[in-house]
Amino acid sequence: MIKKKDTQESSSFDKELFKRSVLYNVKTLYRKTLEEATPQQIFQAVGYAIKDVVIDNWLTTHKEYDKQDPKTVYYLSMEFLMGRALGNNIINLQAYKPVKEAMDELGLDLNVIEDQEPDPALGNGGLGRLASCFLDSLSTLGYAAYGCGIRYRYGMFKQEIRDGYQIEVPDNWLVDGNPFELRRPEYAKEVKFGGYVNVRIDENGRSNFVQEGYQSVRAIPYDLPIVGYGNGIVNTLRIWDAEAIECFHLDSFDKGDYQKAVEQANLAKNIVEVLYPNDNHYAGKELRLKQQYFFISASVQEAIAKYMRKHDDIRKFYEKVTFQLNDTHPTVAVAELMRILMDEYYLTWEEAWNVTIKTCAYTNHTIMAEALEKWPIELFSRLLPRIYQIIEEINRRFIIKIQEMYPGNQEKIRKMAIIYDGQVKMAHLAIAAGFSVNGVARLHTEILKKQELRDFYEMMPEKFNNKTNGITQRRFLLHGNPLLADWVTAHVGSDWITDLPKISKLKIYADDEKCQQEFMNIKYQNKVRLAQYILEHNGIEVDPRSIFDVQVKRLHEYKRQLLNILHVMYLYNQLKDNPEMEFFPRTFIFGAKAAAGYYNAKMTIKLINSVADVVNNDPVINGRIKVVFIENYRVSNAELIFAAADVSEQISTASKEASGTGNMKFMLNGALTIGTMDGANVEIVEEVGAENAFIFGLSSDEVINFENNGGYDPTEIFNNDPDVRRVLMQLINGTFAPNDPDRFRTLYNSLLNTISTNKADMYFILKDFKAYAEAQRKVENAYRDEKRWARSAILNVACSGKFTSDRTIQEYVDELWHLDKVVLPKKVVGKDKT
Ligand code: PLP
Repeated sequence: MIKKKDTQESSSFDKELFKRSVLYNVKTLYRKTLEEATPQQIFQAVGYAIKDVVIDNWLTTHKEYDKQDPKTVYYLSMEFLMGRALGNNIINLQAYKPVKEAMDELGLDLNVIEDQEPDPALGNGGLGRLASCFLDSLSTLGYAAYGCGIRYRYGMFKQEIRDGYQIEVPDNWLVDGNPFELRRPEYAKEVKFGGYVNVRIDENGRSNFVQEGYQSVRAIPYDLPIVGYGNGIVNTLRIWDAEAIECFHLDSFDKGDYQKAVEQANLAKNIVEVLYPNDNHYAGKELRLKQQYFFISASVQEAIAKYMRKHDDIRKFYEKVTFQLNDTHPTVAVAELMRILMDEYYLTWEEAWNVTIKTCAYTNHTIMAEALEKWPIELFSRLLPRIYQIIEEINRRFIIKIQEMYPGNQEKIRKMAIIYDGQVKMAHLAIAAGFSVNGVARLHTEILKKQELRDFYEMMPEKFNNKTNGITQRRFLLHGNPLLADWVTAHVGSDWITDLPKISKLKIYADDEKCQQEFMNIKYQNKVRLAQYILEHNGIEVDPRSIFDVQVKRLHEYKRQLLNILHVMYLYNQLKDNPEMEFFPRTFIFGAKAAAGYYNAKMTIKLINSVADVVNNDPVINGRIKVVFIENYRVSNAELIFAAADVSEQISTASKEASGTGNMKFMLNGALTIGTMDGANVEIVEEVGAENAFIFGLSSDEVINFENNGGYDPTEIFNNDPDVRRVLMQLINGTFAPNDPDRFRTLYNSLLNTISTNKADMYFILKDFKAYAEAQRKVENAYRDEKRWARSAILNVACSGKFTSDRTIQEYVDELWHLDKVVLPKKVVGKDKT
């Protein structure tokens, strides 16, 4: 039976007050009437009006935290890929309907207003987006939490496509101001770099380590509210800005002072200037290490100061605080905590270590060697002399432990030491000093235990655990796909919004023909919405009746966008050879940013666009294949894309993708996965059933086996498979680059040439090609049977319950963080403030 639509909207939101607040803001911020204001100014006015509502809840939450003194998690992360705040805040206040009505009554379109907000893109991809989903879940579940990060002046670059090439344009996201942020100068902290360490005897006869001759910056926090869904809880994302410490007179005749003042001003300016646009890749830049220590030192100092405002025994710090390290990027937190405990609170080494190892926990996000952070000793000790001393001592003691466990085994020390071969190995530090090491999907955690971190696992098995990633259904279904969200709610009620496993009640509708039609109709409307976006942004017309086959994620060789486009070339050849063959029209949609210095990634973008130019305009193809590269893939257009996808491309080389989270967002929106048994795909298939997905290719064991035995020989495939050979030859014979046939030779070489790359086809693209093509044939056949497809798609939605970040966070809480649940005394959401 179909349930009555239950929107779970708050009834206490005061629409009239809200309208007055918007008008008032337009007047006082811009001295304008609504008619005179620009769309951006209206967005700002609406943003401030929403913040006004949020602020009350924020205050109440923190008063309650003060009273209840719950344990708090500090989620330390270089990246938070938040996406737009306005719509999400309105959704979580349960005020979408009254706000939309208020806007209508003022003659405004809420969608247009939302579109004015720049995407806060303080992250690269999955890792940063995960951090944002986690914050949403922490607030919604009612746990005290801070996200701690950097207020980059320029976030992830804006991608423009010119002549098919990626161009990076600076992302000046703060140019119009951010209505949601709150500057908190009262919590500023000094962070010191360089100089040297001296031992000084103080008045009590204690010898103290002091850093001297340093340069420093002032870290100023900006707080952003993280609104829980419908519970009045508002946590804080605290991002740090840097300002110069003006302790010198700039007119001083003392050259040393002047020089130092200028250097400090530059340090402050540079440190938060820009996010490094590398995903899963370590570049070893000095400024990056400065960024890491900058936000960590400020965050750790403030966490301790906050704790000491309420408690008097720093030795029990861990009873009230956990630091979760999002990858190794924040690992200096371990040594910074030791430093403060010893140098400022005079704890002994043993006491400080006891606190540290009970406070810090580490999440591993990748097994790929090029992503592992290893800092040269020279750089590290010069920039952070006291921190380096502390790490040396941690290392010395850790090596003693290794020797006790494996007497005489030098190999273990070589493989596990924190400092070795002139490098500081951040993952080893995080594992030695953390109470927990977690992977982000079951397969990934198993690979960590059996392969990459095997020595550590054998020595400290109790630290290792898995926390399969998750996503927030509030942003990626409720906000991003309102048609489907309403449909789901109409069928199973609205509990799924805060309890996603309840969405499994949809299963009973999977075989219902009427439901199948309704579902396909919603998908169609979402495809029309995306088709309009593509027409506006790419000038390409796509047919919403074609299969929307989508691969959106960072561009990386291991994610194998190259496999996808080579397969498009293969299909193109088939259709050219047999124009009359049966073929269901398909739109291949890509979206991906490449790191600025990643040549093969950038050339893959050019290849996709070059194939698009040829295929989209070939009269023989006649629109049956369309290729679209969506410019500037980011959270805001991701929401549109997931909603419109039929097919979700999750085709990474097995073993390389730690989890993936895009895969979960597609599933939640009813796309069927074509993918390898990698990362969380394994668990997705387990939930939905192999018959509702298209799995192909080498297993992670097979890939690892090949790798351990020196790879495989792709020339055999090239020689024996004419289809593959033809596609590869098209990379170097000018088919897609008539004026410059050599343009894609590096891609060709990466697949075949062992001389230039020393290992050919490291990502097993040719090895998996035929299996992929076969899986794609199955996709096409399945789509022809609309009822079967609809059934599978509904089942994907219905089986997505496991992949909510609410579940992931609850696991962290139950098994690692042990936070106290906070309930506000009375619901304060959107309360009448008159
Ligand atoms: N970038 C954006 C904007 C996203 O929304 C997501 C989604 O999770 C990702 C990157 C990560 O995608 P994937 O897990 O497919 O690598």
